[in-house]
Amino acid sequence: MSFESLQLIPPVLKALGDKGYSTPTPIQQQAIPLILQQRDVLGCAQTGTGKTAAFAIPLLQLLHQERASAAKGPRRIKALILTPTRELAIQIDESFAAYGRYLDLKHLVIFGGVSQHAQTQALKRGVDILVATPGRLLDLINQQYISLRDVGFFVLDEADRMLDMGFVHDVKRVIAQLPDQRQTLLFSATMPPEIQKLAGAILDHPVKVEV
Ligand code: AMP
Repeated sequence: MSFESLQLIPPVLKALGDKGYSTPTPIQQQAIPLILQQRDVLGCAQTGTGKTAAFAIPLLQLLHQERASAAKGPRRIKALILTPTRELAIQIDESFAAYGRYLDLKHLVIFGGVSQHAQTQALKRGVDILVATPGRLLDLINQQYISLRDVGFFVLDEADRMLDMGFVHDVKRVIAQLPDQRQTLLFSATMPPEIQKLAGAILDHPVKVEV
């Protein structure tokens, strides 16, 4: 199977060519078509399987198509990716940068432990895709630098680690701010009962993808 056969648009295929990717990984083969069909997805996959590209590629394509067909107003956060650690957040943001390099979409990564100034300045310039860790996201929501009212795509990455790290209440507070009308993708390496319960609460008729 090739990326071409997954109905990806030329600017995305070109960016994948630049990265030297020729074949989609199993999680990408399964998840990309489902995400493009705007289905909710419950993905059981570890780091190293290509799961970041499995959600970043189709989200970039959907956001690009949405922006191309809408009136060009100020950018509002349309996609939120929540991940437990700063390192993962940076890697995810770099993936959006790489696969979206030929698209007119702005991405930003925010995390705690550093000054918020550069983050709030970037937010003021307008962002389409926000990659965040839960604590700093809630801080900036509380200070009204961030509104999640226009989010149509939500990814909860490494959900099991998120719970292990004690972020369950923070995650629930973030979810409470999201519009009900949205596409949600949940990725987790393991599916213990708490994750299944969370999945049941936030996903709408999800398709399960396992690798
Ligand atoms: P992830 O599981 O998202 O952390 O990705 C693991 C690594 O695989 C990353 O370094 C990606 O750049 C790389 N990768 C993802 N998809 C592909 C692909 N289709 N072909 C080759 N490398 C890939």
